[in-house]
This record gives sequence, structure tokens and C-alpha cells, in this order.
Amino acid sequence: MRQYRIAIIGGGPGGLTLARLLHLGGLSATVFERDAHAGDRPQGGTLDLHADTGQRALRLAGLEREFLAAARYDDQGMRLYDSNGALLFGDDSSDGDRPEVDRTELRRMLIDSLPPAMIRWGTRVDRIEPAGDGYDVVTGGARGSFDLVVGADGAWSKVRPLLSGARPAYEGVTFVELGFDDVDRRHPAIAALAGRGKMFALGDNRGLILQRNGHAHIRGYFALRSDEPWAAALEDAAPEAIRERMLGYLKGWAPILTDAIRLADTIIGVRPLYALPVGHRWAHRPGLTLIGDAAHLMSPFGGEGVNLAMSDAADLAAALIQGDDAAVARFEEAMAARAEPAARGAMEGLRHAISPHGPQAVLTHFMEVMAGA
Ligand SMILES: Cc1cc2nc3c(=O)[nH]c(=O)nc-3n(C[C@H](O)[C@H](O)[C@H](O)COP(=O)(O)OP(=O)(O)OC[C@H]3O[C@@H](n4cnc5c(N)ncnc54)[C@H](O)[C@@H]3O)c2cc1C
Repeated sequence: MRQYRIAIIGGGPGGLTLARLLHLGGLSATVFERDAHAGDRPQGGTLDLHADTGQRALRLAGLEREFLAAARYDDQGMRLYDSNGALLFGDDSSDGDRPEVDRTELRRMLIDSLPPAMIRWGTRVDRIEPAGDGYDVVTGGARGSFDLVVGADGAWSKVRPLLSGARPAYEGVTFVELGFDDVDRRHPAIAALAGRGKMFALGDNRGLILQRNGHAHIRGYFALRSDEPWAAALEDAAPEAIRERMLGYLKGWAPILTDAIRLADTIIGVRPLYALPVGHRWAHRPGLTLIGDAAHLMSPFGGEGVNLAMSDAADLAAALIQGDDAAVARFEEAMAARAEPAARGAMEGLRHAISPHGPQAVLTHFMEVMAGA
């Protein structure tokens, strides 16, 4: 009997976790990834992995030891400032169970756990086409036939249009991503502002977020409520012009906060935030499914995206190892039900954080979390 052929489109945290779990379960799969190789582009900042979702998936993947070696429990702190630089909330404790791990290290541990031939690097998928009882994955001039195609290809998935008419919509806020290297030695005031983890400074539809990564790096995000054409124009601007624009938008903010823009070593990029509709679902269709951002893209203000992507991977792998299409349909329904409150929370989190009312709503939220803890 020929093997069931599974294509996973996208080698992000969701797709790679799925590949690893299928491999452990004795199923083979091909991961199509557009990056030329693992180190092709910087993977972005740090991610906090939650015990019952992201960490559970890594445990099932047999990667607990690798995770513990990379996890930074010391970087779970949280601070909130107003635009005058006054500290409204500070929690530098490290006893939570949401340790940070650099995205590059998370991806690396998943890649290293797979037979190299499972990942087809440098292969951008152009489209998916129905073919016989399955689907063809079309890449450049080539095509390959599969019984199941899993869209783990993030926000602009090539698989999603075959299942759903939903498209990500601009959320009204754009991030500009900044980086500080060797921060403790070269920028001690910025390191002190961020504390042991993450800080937010909020006010007047703007925000500054700094987050400690591994290797003495701090990743920063300037956030501004703005329309989509404004964001598109900014994407085309030169880094120093972007820096000047950000400083202009923060006129009147405390110098310790504007220094985070002035002194940043790199302006990494402009990132308009998009989300799928809260509660996104589709009618089950054998031979196709979605996981992670492809299924439920949401703003990062809930801190759930990667955790959900990896949980989806764990649950889909279990359904596929069961070998029953009805199990995949049940997985899709459970995934949508789990993602819906997270997506609503992310939408609300963004609305409250980057708001005309300053940091008050976020402060109330932090106090409630502390009181409930
Ligand atoms: C600024 C920011 C901060 C965030 N912080 C957090 C956080 O702290 N905690 C958290 O839980 N989540 C966070 N998220 C969300 C998190 O990054 C995503 O939810 C997560 O990466 C989704 O994983 P994924 O595997 O579904 O998709 P992705 O990570 O988007 O991976 C998709 C992969 O598919 C590949 N690909 C795409 N199209 C194609 C194609 N056509 N052909 C071949 N390959 C393709 C891409 O190269 C990529 O490798 C953050 C997001 C942002 C933008």
C-alpha cells in the first residue's frame, strides 16, 4: 500500500512542530519552506511559551530538554510606564511558568529534530490545485501530488483561499521594530528601562515596547494607531527617515523613552498588524486543513499566537496518526473554539493598549491579573 502523502506548507513553529510529531508517529511529510535555509533571515524576537499549549507541544515532541536549555525564566518581568516615564506597574519576578525563548532558537531545535530531507528549503509555494482525490502543490515550474495539504504558511496562506473567503484585515496599528545589541554594556539606561522582561510605555494612541531577548539583545516596537496607506508609505522609507518620523510622533514624551528610538542600533522593519475575523471557521474539506496563523491570525497583544500554532500542530498530528478524516474535522472545530477567545482577547488588548486614553486600561488589567494570581 502506498504511503499517505502529506504536504506541510510553511516551516514556522506550527509547521515544524507538526512535522516532528508526524515523524515520531511514523508518518512521513514534506515541509515546503520559502526561506533558502535555516539562517536565511532573522526570525524575530522572543516568544513566551505557556505550560498547557506551547510547552505541552514541545514535551510531546520529545524536546523538553532542548527547550529547558534555551528557556529564559528570568525574563518574565513586566513594567508599565506613562509617557512621562513614570513607572505605574513593575513586576520583575521570575517565578511564572511562561519562560521566554528566542524565536531563532525555537526554530533551530525543531529543525534539528527532523531528518534533513523532510524540509524542502527555498521552495515558495505559488498555489494549491485540486488533482484527482488530492491536491497538487505548485512551486515555480514544478508540482507534486499529495493526499493532504496543511497550510502552516502564516498570515498570507496560499492554502486558506481554497477553504475560506476570509482575508486578514488591517487592525489600525503599525509597529516599527527596533534592535539593541550588547545592551547591558552599550545602553545600560535602556536595559534598566526594560527591566527583567518586557516594558510598555503608553499614551495618546502610541506605544513603546521593549523586550529582553537572549544574548544581551533588546527588541523594541514603536506602535502607532494609523491608517493603512500611511503604513504602506512608511514601509518604503529609509531607516533614518523612519527614525525621524517616530521621534516626531513622540514629541513631548520623556527623554528616557525617546532615547529608545534615538539610540536603537537598527530599525529592523515596519510591521502593520493584521488579523483574521474573530471566530474564523470553514466547512471541513477532506485533503486540506490549516493550522496556526493561517487559521487564526491575531495581533500579538494576547501573546498566544505561537502557543496556539504549536498546540494546533500537536492536536492535528494526533488526529492524523489516528488516520481518520472525521478526526481532522473534529480537530478543526476544537482549534476554532480554542482560538476564538484568544483572538477576541488579542483584539481587545490592542484596542486598550494603543488608545487615546493612555495606559489606564492596561494598568487595570495588570492589577486584575496580579489580584487573581
Ligand atoms: C511582533 C510580533 C510579536 C509576537 N509575539 C508573540 C509572543 O510573544 N507570543 C506568541 O505566542 N506569539 C507572538 N506572535 C505571534 C507569532 O509570531 C505567530 O502566531 C506564530 O509565528 C505563528 O506560527 P505559524 O507557524 O502559524 O506561522 P509563521 O510563524 O508565520 O510561519 C509561517 C512559515 O511559512 C513560510 N511561508 C509563508 N508563505 C509561504 C509560501 N508561499 N511557501 C513556502 N513557505 C511559506 C514562512 O517563511 C514561515 O517560515 C508575535 C507576532 C508578531 C508579529
